Amino acid sequence: MSRIDLHTHTTFSDGSFSPTDLVTLANQQSIDILAITDHDTTEGLPEAIEATKTLSLELIPGIELSAQFQNREMHILGYFINLTDPQFQTRLETLRSTRLHRIHHILDRLHSLGMDISLEEVQQASGTGTIGRPHIAQVLMAKGHVKSMKDAFEHLLGSRGKAYVQRVVPEAHEIIGWIIEAGGIPVLAHPYWEGLNKDDSTTACQSLVEQGLRGIEVFYGTFSARHISFNLGLARRFDLLMTGGSDFHGTLKPDIALGKGRGSLHVPPKVVERLRVAAGY
Ligand code: AMP
Ligand code: FE
Ligand code: FE
Ligand code: ZN
Repeated sequence: MSRIDLHTHTTFSDGSFSPTDLVTLANQQSIDILAITDHDTTEGLPEAIEATKTLSLELIPGIELSAQFQNREMHILGYFINLTDPQFQTRLETLRSTRLHRIHHILDRLHSLGMDISLEEVQQASGTGTIGRPHIAQVLMAKGHVKSMKDAFEHLLGSRGKAYVQRVVPEAHEIIGWIIEAGGIPVLAHPYWEGLNKDDSTTACQSLVEQGLRGIEVFYGTFSARHISFNLGLARRFDLLMTGGSDFHGTLKPDIALGKGRGSLHVPPKVVERLRVAAGY
């Protein structure tokens, strides 16, 4: 039986494992098919591809992009994208530049709340990869302002937090178009993230299928059996491909294990077979 994880992050965004270390860990844990889906970048993929050369592990190139839908943020995964597509890479650079802008604003808010954190500290936490709120959270934790990542998002950085700043990101239909133009398969990520409830998820699928959405992340590191069966219903109703993954971030989300999520993640092999056929591989 294949073990599959189609949603993971590396040090090129907000994961704590380098691409090489992530591939090594996946191999040690008998994972046969792994997708790396860093936020707004494909730059970790060449290293990961190199690391799989001597292994029997299959690596699927992926990405995770933030988008707006009805004024709320959602995440869209892209699989089998063409990594060397120059237009796509230019678009990713634009997305990354809006991140830095937002970090400045969040740091201003934190400052007015009495928490002094410098951009340098956040950049150090992020290393060379895509910078994001989890890196601010790391500094907040290190300085004793919050106890955990969850705490940081709940009270400060999440959409209901005191230091929340919205990032201006493209509309979901635009992001879907970008992924398609780069030869990839667009998939709605974790349809219950940050307050996207059942109705929102249904509306999103209904509207975005018309814009080219091809799949939905039915299986996810933290989903209960009930969530999964609801998602299966959406996949059937809108004729969407199914995908699944842990959303592994290493030590940045210590309760999520690679290939397992909170323990019960299981991604059926037929999911990858169908994804491959859809992508023409
Ligand atoms: P950003 O990329 O700066 O918008 O930050 C979003 C990232 O923060 C997500 O991709 C997750 O990795 C992480 N995140 C979002 N919400 C939470 C939360 N409530 N607890 C922990 N991590 C979160
Ligand atoms: Fe993340
Ligand atoms: Fe996400
Ligand atoms: Zn993710």
